[in-house]
Order: sequence, then structure tokens, then C-alpha cells
Amino acid sequence: MTMTSRSAAMFDAAKRVIPGGVNSPVRAFNSVGGTPRFIAEAHGPYLVDVDGNELVDLVCSWGPMLLGHAHPQVIEAVTTAAARGTSYGAPTQAETELVETIIERAPAEQLRLVNSGTEATMSVLRLARGVTGRDKIVKFAGCYHGHADSLLASAGSGLATLGIPGTPGVTAGTTADTIVLPYNDREAVTAAFAEHGADIAALITEASPGNMGVVPPAEGFNAFLAATAHEHGALFVSDEVMTGFRVTRSGYYGIDKVEPDLVTFGKVMGGGFPCAAFGGRAEYMAQLAPLGGVYQAGTLSGNPIAAAAGTTTLKLATEEVYAGIDKRAGELSSAVTEALSAAGVPHVLQHAGNMFSVFFTDAPAVPDYATAAAQDTTAYAAFFHAMLDAGVYLPPSAFEVWFLSAAHDDAAIDKVISALPAAARAAAQ
Ligand code: PLP
Repeated sequence: MTMTSRSAAMFDAAKRVIPGGVNSPVRAFNSVGGTPRFIAEAHGPYLVDVDGNELVDLVCSWGPMLLGHAHPQVIEAVTTAAARGTSYGAPTQAETELVETIIERAPAEQLRLVNSGTEATMSVLRLARGVTGRDKIVKFAGCYHGHADSLLASAGSGLATLGIPGTPGVTAGTTADTIVLPYNDREAVTAAFAEHGADIAALITEASPGNMGVVPPAEGFNAFLAATAHEHGALFVSDEVMTGFRVTRSGYYGIDKVEPDLVTFGKVMGGGFPCAAFGGRAEYMAQLAPLGGVYQAGTLSGNPIAAAAGTTTLKLATEEVYAGIDKRAGELSSAVTEALSAAGVPHVLQHAGNMFSVFFTDAPAVPDYATAAAQDTTAYAAFFHAMLDAGVYLPPSAFEVWFLSAAHDDAAIDKVISALPAAARAAAQ
């Protein structure tokens, strides 16, 4: 029996002062049940919880830890930067270096640094609205772009209807300008632009969705989205917060080469620190304050420690790093499918480069949120807990990506693979 008493005590204490005991809901284990592990430290591919259990980490802080935890060169860059002061509220060379490092890899002429993916998507849509002078945006059900009000919209009933608030606290007025469509559905996109085209400022999409589990775009879908937006004078915004610098040296752009007008990044580019960015064509970025009229700002934006961590991480992320992660992701995902098939568990495993996830479903494929939402989350919970007991930390939700890092070596992967058969049998019950 795994000891978790210290995690349980810390969770109780946290719940007294922090809503639900966590600072981001999925960490609370609500969708899998049980007590979240409180983490004491992390090294390479492993988390160590406060009871001393060592866990192979397949969450990687929800994506950022591409090189694994506490990479020595990243830690050195961070401590060197911190020793010089932690925030100045004035420009630094470190910010330019991070942005240069990004635009050398990714499809953007200029970037503005911010502190989270949420800020990046919120700001990019303000810019798109400022540039076009239009109000409406199009997003897809199951694509998560952070928690800015206008993006917390659910689909209304029927095709191409305007969004309704996806959570209490968001006003109907805010989401009335958000059109929510089913993912991978070209007809819905065509119909929405036919009805609202002249009012649409931007279409925003995850470059390859990972927030409903991994649901890659159908062949040509992103190119179709960009072309449809342009036909109607709207901007095509690619959200690469999750995929950027994770699936290739640039992001999903490195796989499908669809050029966005504006793009958002986060996660990997901060090397584990709060750091994100939005950007794109220089003519659009010139409309941001202080050059243009679209206001956007941030006390800690471009923080020197975050910039040092991000630049160091990106510079260490060579083609060999990606090739290694891709190979491991292929090996591990095949082992998952084998174990589940051997236990007779219906499932679909989907990839976007080295990101993958498993859906416990009878469906032949998962092209959209409605199909993802119909999966058997109880089977996932049983699978998750069997893996956790065996020392493997999977995402505590069936709708999340399994992330690997360059630090996941043979020993870590073998530990995961040997835990799979028993977990598959648990999922079968
Ligand atoms: N966009 C995408 C595609 C994301 O996956 C996320 C977070 O998971 C965000 C935006 C929001 O980023 P953050 O959690 O840093 O606000």
C-alpha cells in the first residue's frame, strides 16, 4: 500500500485556506477521485511526493518541462539571473534574446511577452479586434485557450449560433461575440462565416487540440480554416501554447506549415516559469501600445528569470531532443495500446507528433469534443489509480495529454511499461 498520509494532511490544510485546496482545478483529482499528491521536489523524469514516493511524471507540469525537471543548465541560468535581481520593471536584453530565439524557430515577425497562456490569447484577440475593427470571434468546442471571459463560451443550440457563458460569472454579453463550432467540421465553419463573416475579427484554434485529449486536425483542416478566415477578411489565430516548441522545434507549425496571422505561445517557452507570448505579422503588432492604440501591458511581463529559463530551454531543445522524445512517445503509446487490447479494453489512442492520449471509447476515432466527452471516464479513473499505485503520474483527467521529456530514459519508460498490464486489467473491470 502506497503511503500518502502527508499528502492527505497537506491537502486538508490547503482546503482550509485555498478553494478546493488547489490553485488550478484539475490538480484536485476531482475527475479521478482520491487525494492529490503534494510534490516535494522533481528531478529529470521523476516527481517526488511529500511521502517520499518517486513517480515517473507523464504530466511534465502540463507540458512545459520539455527537458525534464531541474535541468542543470536551466537551473544555472535561473540562479544566475535571480542573483542579479528578480524584476526591474524596465527593459532587459534577456527579453530580446528570448524573442529572437523564438522567432528564429516559429512563424512570427514580432512578439510581445506576457505571463500566461490566458493573457496571450486574451491579448491576441483584443489585437485582432483592434486590427479588423470587428467584434466576433470563432472558436471550437473542446479547444481551451485559457480562462479569459470571452473564451469561456459553450456552443449554443444549432449550427453557427452565438456562444453562451460556459461558467457562472461570465456574462451573456461577453460570450455573445463568441461563435463556438464543432471541431473538424468544415460545414459548420463555412456556415458560420456565411452568416457572420463581415463581423468576424478572428478564428482562433489550438494548432492541434490537446485540451479534449489529443484530437489532431483532419488533413488540410488548418489550411482550410486560414483560407476561410481570409476570404472573409478575418485573421487566422493559431494557439500554440501547448504545441509550441513541444511537438517540433517550432510547434505544430513544423508539422503542417499553415502560416498564422497571429500566434500564441506559452508553456515550454518559459522553461517552467510564468511566461508566454503572442505575436505575428509586424504590421499587426505595430498596432499595440506604445506604437498603436490597442492597449496591453504587464508589471512582470518579460521577467528576467523567466526569460533566462525560457531562452536556455529553447536553446537546449535541439532536433536530437525532439527525435528522442518522438521515439519514446511512439514506444510508449504502442505499449499502452498493446496492454489495453490484451485486457480487452475498447480504446482509441491519438497522436499529434509526440503528444498523445488515450480515449476509453468504442468509437473508431475521436474527431471532436462530443465524441471525446462520450468516453468512459470511470475506466480512465481505474487505470489512472493503478498506474499511480505503481509509481506513474498520469494526467488526473481523461481529457488531457500524456507528456514526455528529454529526461525520460529507459529506466523511466520501463517503469511505465511494466505498470501497464495491471492498470489495463483494472480499466477492464
Ligand atoms: N491555450 C492552450 C492551448 C492551453 O493548453 C492553455 C493551458 O493549458 C492555455 C491557452 C492557457 O494557458 P495558461 O494556463 O498558461 O493560462
